[in-house]
Amino acid sequence: MTTSPTPSATELLARRARVLGPAYRLFYEEPVHLVRGEGVWLHAADGTRYLDAYNNVASVGHSHPHVVQAIARQAAQLNTHTRYLHEDILSYAERLLATMPPALGHAMFTCTGSEANDLALRIARSHTQATGLIVTEFAYHGVTAALAEASPSLGHHVTLGAHVRTVRAPDSYRIAPERLGAVFADGVRAAIDDLQAHGLRPAALLVDTVFSSDGIFTHPPGFLTEAVQALRDAGGLFIADEVQPGLGRTGEALWGFQRHGLVPDIVTLGKPMGNGHPLAGLAVQPPVLEAFARECRYFNTFGGNPVSVAAGMAVLDVIEREDLVANAQRVGRHLREQLSALARRHALIGDVRGSGLFVAVEFVGDREARTPASAETTRIVNGLRDRGVLAGATGPQANVLKLRPPLVFSTTNADLLVAALDETLTAVASGGR
Ligand code: PMP
Repeated sequence: MTTSPTPSATELLARRARVLGPAYRLFYEEPVHLVRGEGVWLHAADGTRYLDAYNNVASVGHSHPHVVQAIARQAAQLNTHTRYLHEDILSYAERLLATMPPALGHAMFTCTGSEANDLALRIARSHTQATGLIVTEFAYHGVTAALAEASPSLGHHVTLGAHVRTVRAPDSYRIAPERLGAVFADGVRAAIDDLQAHGLRPAALLVDTVFSSDGIFTHPPGFLTEAVQALRDAGGLFIADEVQPGLGRTGEALWGFQRHGLVPDIVTLGKPMGNGHPLAGLAVQPPVLEAFARECRYFNTFGGNPVSVAAGMAVLDVIEREDLVANAQRVGRHLREQLSALARRHALIGDVRGSGLFVAVEFVGDREARTPASAETTRIVNGLRDRGVLAGATGPQANVLKLRPPLVFSTTNADLLVAALDETLTAVASGGR
């Protein structure tokens, strides 16, 4: 038997352009061609092994055998949809809801985080009979038409909806911690006023509870409380987008909203739920769902199918068995300590922040003025890739290194990452990468 040779990156790039068209974007100046994943490691076609410090989807580790087996077992037995009775979706929903405050009494399933947010928005609008939506200035909430127009991070060419208002993110690097909650709440109140000035009422405040695309803001816990109260006083709902922080990433709680002492009206879920299998959904307070359920039915062909549910169950098993929330906290703390030590030697590092295994390193040209070092950050992300570590950039100026590895990341993995960053920063300081 002859095996066909691995296509070169140049060939794949040409084929991508031809068949996938021009809307897709790749990571890195020299794109990575991956063929296999295992735990925190990603293997490329040329034999290079990369340390994955970026992917929160495979959050219990790439190709985790327990999840893989659960998916394979169920796929070999039955895969249908929610129009037939099946026990597993009920057991999974019960188990998921048991991790949340009791007020969140119903679970509904989708295939993507976008669909979950879209459904949440429809539910919120039915319940409040209002349309206004408040998000942060560099939010990302999904790909549907309703969410693209509420995702300013997609760029200036994607026009915000007429009923969408933005608020400045709770930038803990530029706003004093004791004022953070009040400043954010002032923004929300101003957005509510502006909606009202245009004859609109707020249906919801929709935020990622770790503000991933805005630059990753996690501290001090509790800073969301005043804003959520302001929104509720105006008759709107609080939707916690847990697509990024959910399922243990923050190390302090299973869900990001819990760190703020809040009980959302709706919680949306995605990415890490199926460890790569497309499973997403939402949890909602039963009274909030009533109006929507009266007005229309809900059916999502693939959402909550038995194979997806098997993946979701297996992910919960692994998080518990391998004590991954505690691991995220322990390794995340170690990582931040090591990064802070690095900051003493590299002037580009302005701030190290985050919670658990969601860590941000903000790069600045000038520590006093806190001017974003965007170009340098691009070189750092590419320099890390050259040294075998996959990471990304985030924030409105793309000057924040986003470190968000699978939750099975170890302190040894963290040390490797820090050593690669140390080398990269030295290279960048002398004009390289
Ligand atoms: N919300 C947030 C906060 C996200 O980061 C994302 C995806 N990056 C989404 C929603 C949309 O999820 P999906 O890509 O699964 O539709």
